[in-house]
Amino acid sequence: MSDCIFCKIINKEISSNIVYEDNLVVAFRDINPQAPVHILIVPKEHIPTLLDLNENNKHVVSHAYMVAKELAKSEGIDEKGYRIVSNCGNDGGQTVYHIHFHLLGGRFMTWPPG
Ligand code: IMP
Repeated sequence: MSDCIFCKIINKEISSNIVYEDNLVVAFRDINPQAPVHILIVPKEHIPTLLDLNENNKHVVSHAYMVAKELAKSEGIDEKGYRIVSNCGNDGGQTVYHIHFHLLGGRFMTWPPG
């Protein structure tokens, strides 16, 4: 989508700190990190929200979690633990309407989230 900031990052139209890329996803550091490690894992396909997941695109979710596992190891947060967050819609706190998975770690995560 032409006006989607994450599509622009995926297409390298704007710069980002990319830490991983394959045919399905791009992972880059969040511009406003909420933890020492805060990486966004973003499907290359423009899927606006979790409500737009379907039988044809659902495989990107499990793939993103597998990428998160490998990034957790390479970032050194696997042993102490980490959190994956995906916000959906206004009340879920979603601000960028291109689905993504926040990989957060490097500090103790409180519960419940705000
Ligand atoms: P959401 O609020 O769950 O939709 O998450 C969107 C995330 O994208 C936020 O954590 C933002 O800090 C992050 N973000 C927005 N623009 C950029 C960017 O250009 N580069 C990296 N992260 C971004």
